[in-house]
Amino acid sequence: MKNLFTFYGGVHPPDQKNTSNHPIEEMPIPEKVVIPLIQHTGIPSKPLVSLGDTVLENQKIAEAAGHISVPIHSSVSGKVTDIRAFLHPVIGKPVESIVIECDGKHRVFKPEKTHVDYYRYSPKDLIQVIKDAGIVGLGGAAFPTHVKLSPPKDVIINNIIINGAECEPFLTADDRLMREYSKEVIEGTKIIMYIMDAMKGFVAIEDNKQPAIEIFKKIVFNEPNIDLAVLPTHYPQGAEKQLIKVLLNREVPSGGLPLHVGVVVDNVGTAYSINRAVKEGENLYNRIVTVAGNGIETPKNIKVRVGTLISDIAKFCGGTTKDLAQVIMGGPMMGIAQTSLDVPVLKGTSGILFFTKNDIIDRQYFDCFRCGKCIRVCPMELFPNALSIYIENGRIDEAKAFHPLDCIECGCCAYTCPAQRPIVQQIKWAKTQINKK
Ligand code: SF4
Ligand code: SF4
Repeated sequence: MKNLFTFYGGVHPPDQKNTSNHPIEEMPIPEKVVIPLIQHTGIPSKPLVSLGDTVLENQKIAEAAGHISVPIHSSVSGKVTDIRAFLHPVIGKPVESIVIECDGKHRVFKPEKTHVDYYRYSPKDLIQVIKDAGIVGLGGAAFPTHVKLSPPKDVIINNIIINGAECEPFLTADDRLMREYSKEVIEGTKIIMYIMDAMKGFVAIEDNKQPAIEIFKKIVFNEPNIDLAVLPTHYPQGAEKQLIKVLLNREVPSGGLPLHVGVVVDNVGTAYSINRAVKEGENLYNRIVTVAGNGIETPKNIKVRVGTLISDIAKFCGGTTKDLAQVIMGGPMMGIAQTSLDVPVLKGTSGILFFTKNDIIDRQYFDCFRCGKCIRVCPMELFPNALSIYIENGRIDEAKAFHPLDCIECGCCAYTCPAQRPIVQQIKWAKTQINKK
């Protein structure tokens, strides 16, 4: 097993991974799905269907609109009943979406060709397959995977890290995927290594997932170029830059990418989806989601179709409790609070958390009293306190001197701040202001 290094800062929030022993259940086909044209980082996709069109499951319904863009596929068979702006769970405002009423028949579009013997195809061909399948990073950021796998010609990628750290509390979707689909994850890893011509691959798992670790120990025993890396449980271990530091002791430069230090990091779900796309011709239209928290009657891990509404998922999980107070899409550290249950699951949705009044903290915050705790936990070695104070006072130019664009929005600062300052929201807002200029 791999020797490890450490990264600066980080926190240890309680695990709360109570769904880790809940096997993945497939959610029945919903009555309708709402599929937003923005599901990835980059340019929104362009619709290819019109009102009244009949579509099949796995059929392309929107095309990529540039290099940093991916197509979108229908997650059900049925009829397009609306194309209109619909509340988006990440952007927080309406975004053009394709609404499909399901016929309940599960009619699937079959691709003309699959690539079971992938090594007979060129890396360029396989990258095109991955783009055509609409694959994005499933760890949350939803960055188009074909772009990640297409570094500039002079860049050599020698290490692939498959990220199964799943360091956010509550989330167990990746854990279940690794336990139930370990072979597919490894096959996806090998496809990525072949595409990148990388000599070494790692599957990185935090040590709070012992059953998954035992499974992968056995699998990598037969894979001379793939190692298992068991990481100490420490948030945000699963962040790309921290993972690279811990595994390879390489530092991604400020404003740089993992490729600048010869590494590609992909989530375990992404590796699984790549295997499905390449060998089975299955486009990315469903994913595993953890549904958890005291505000939902029956927490589960579910395989769910992209576009399924949270309200339908809540019903499938026995309904919400009377004292439901907040719904978060994603994990509690980096997730996004929702204002409505009528928002759809996206390709990047890893969890839906239902919290009661007792679970959430009073949002009232106070002046910074310079305790320095946020500085000690910031894994990017920033000064969150200074950023918070300057941004609060609208002094963005002065805040820039403290590198807000390097913030990975992990939430460690806000988690540890005794004054409960909304540091991450402030930095996120400042980033949008800086990027506008
Ligand atoms: S400033 Fe950003 S990177 Fe640093 S702890 Fe806060 S959220 Fe994380
Ligand atoms: S943890 Fe909060 S109170 Fe302490 S220095 Fe940072 S922002 Fe200020």
